[in-house]
Amino acid sequence: MEKLGRFEKEFDYELLTDKEKLEKYARDETPGDYYFLPDAAFLPTETDSISRLLEIDNDAKIPIIPRGGGTSRTAGPLAVNGGIVLSTEKMNEIIDFDEKNCILEVGPGVITEEINKFLEKYGFFFPPDPSSVDSCFIGGNVATNAGGARCLLYGLTRDYVRGIEVILPDGSKEFLGGRLKKDATGYSLLNLLIGSEGTLGIITRILLEVVNLPPYSATLVAPFKKLEDAALSSFNILSSGITPSAFEIIDEDAVKVAITNLDKKIPMAEEGTLLIAELLEDSKGELEKKFEIIGNKFLESNASDVFVAEENHQQEKIWDFRRNITEALDLFGTIIPEDVSIPRANIPEFIPEIKKLEKEFNTRVFTFGHIGDGNLHVNILKNEEWKDNGDKIINELFKKLNTFGGKISGEHGIGFTKKKYLKYSRTEKEIKLMKNIKSEFDPLNILNPGKIFDIEEKNA
Ligand SMILES: Cc1cc2nc3c(=O)[nH]c(=O)nc-3n(C[C@H](O)[C@H](O)[C@H](O)COP(=O)(O)OP(=O)(O)OC[C@H]3O[C@@H](n4cnc5c(N)ncnc54)[C@H](O)[C@@H]3O)c2cc1C
Repeated sequence: MEKLGRFEKEFDYELLTDKEKLEKYARDETPGDYYFLPDAAFLPTETDSISRLLEIDNDAKIPIIPRGGGTSRTAGPLAVNGGIVLSTEKMNEIIDFDEKNCILEVGPGVITEEINKFLEKYGFFFPPDPSSVDSCFIGGNVATNAGGARCLLYGLTRDYVRGIEVILPDGSKEFLGGRLKKDATGYSLLNLLIGSEGTLGIITRILLEVVNLPPYSATLVAPFKKLEDAALSSFNILSSGITPSAFEIIDEDAVKVAITNLDKKIPMAEEGTLLIAELLEDSKGELEKKFEIIGNKFLESNASDVFVAEENHQQEKIWDFRRNITEALDLFGTIIPEDVSIPRANIPEFIPEIKKLEKEFNTRVFTFGHIGDGNLHVNILKNEEWKDNGDKIINELFKKLNTFGGKISGEHGIGFTKKKYLKYSRTEKEIKLMKNIKSEFDPLNILNPGKIFDIEEKNA
């Protein structure tokens, strides 16, 4: 840290070096033994101090690790090689709402949920809704291209980011994008930065496009005896031309764990695998027409019943239950949270393969997630044989996934925990190109090193 001795006092920031205060930055929401105490935490309130820190660090070469809300499930914001965690928690201002362009300008440290609380009074909303919405930051969402339940109809975070201010590893500041809907001027560096997991630049300001919030909503819940029937039912509805804003699945075992571990209950939760669909519509007539059709289609596909929630408090209860499945499973045991993305038509054949893993490796596997997007959270319980079998189970899962045309992450990113599996979803050539891009942006490898892939030391 002495190497940073030149850091001026002229900026507004906090630098923490006290071990007790640093504990908060040593973990994120990745289950298991991922504890990395950083050497320091840097809490800026504005961008110039970040630029200066990086300029000086080009001599000192200390790893700088950007951090948002710390809700990563892949150890993304952890100081795995030591260094300084750069927490954006104080850059939490909603800066401007440009109603004519439908653009909201925010700091990276705004808690995602606060965005919709702010927009409600204007009749607008920001659709991407990760289940961690009450604790993740918008900067972290942009850095991971976060998804969420409503991405089925509305798209991912990327689809709403119109511009970002970014501090590059050499300390320079760039603004990528703008208050524009269209921009075809060369390669999209904006889109390269979105989802780059803090390895290419530090996002310090964001322009988000926001949309009108439809006034009518309903949430349907239907229990099924078989996971495959529930999956097929959702696909039949989507192919019939109706796209709910969200279509989620929770397998029977995960529902049971949630009922036991959370003090929350929703209608029909005890009756099997649950399908949950949300409709957001501009007219009540359209809403009622669609929930009739969906309800009937559920019953035709062997749902034992259908519950329709129209009151806001009823709907919120159902979504609160869904958002807390991760927490319920984390309370149950140490979970390996896989987050696979697969062409949805292949899911009915993929599900029995997941079940086979349970038997083959004598463990439990809980599946839930964004069925409409083909993005399943496959949660494998770490059992006593994990030390010998852990890697084998995951390799087996990803080999099967490949045969069904899937990718190893649909939302959570690669971070630290999944980098050794990147080869399942990217060719050697692709990985080489990605490393070249990283080296071009960050030749000294100071920004979030050891994430997504390792960069070999030159002359090593
Ligand atoms: C209960 C639970 C539910 C979840 N549900 C979802 C879900 O539905 N959909 C989903 O996509 N994810 C989900 N996640 C994962 C996680 O919430 C997302 O990846 C989220 O976008 C991370 O945001 P964060 O602010 O917590 O970032 P962090 O965890 O702090 O960091 C994540 C990554 O982003 C980088 N980063 C953070 N801020 C910046 C910045 N300003 N500039 C550059 N890089 C930065 C970090 O270096 C790190 O690599 C869930 C996690 C939990 C615990």
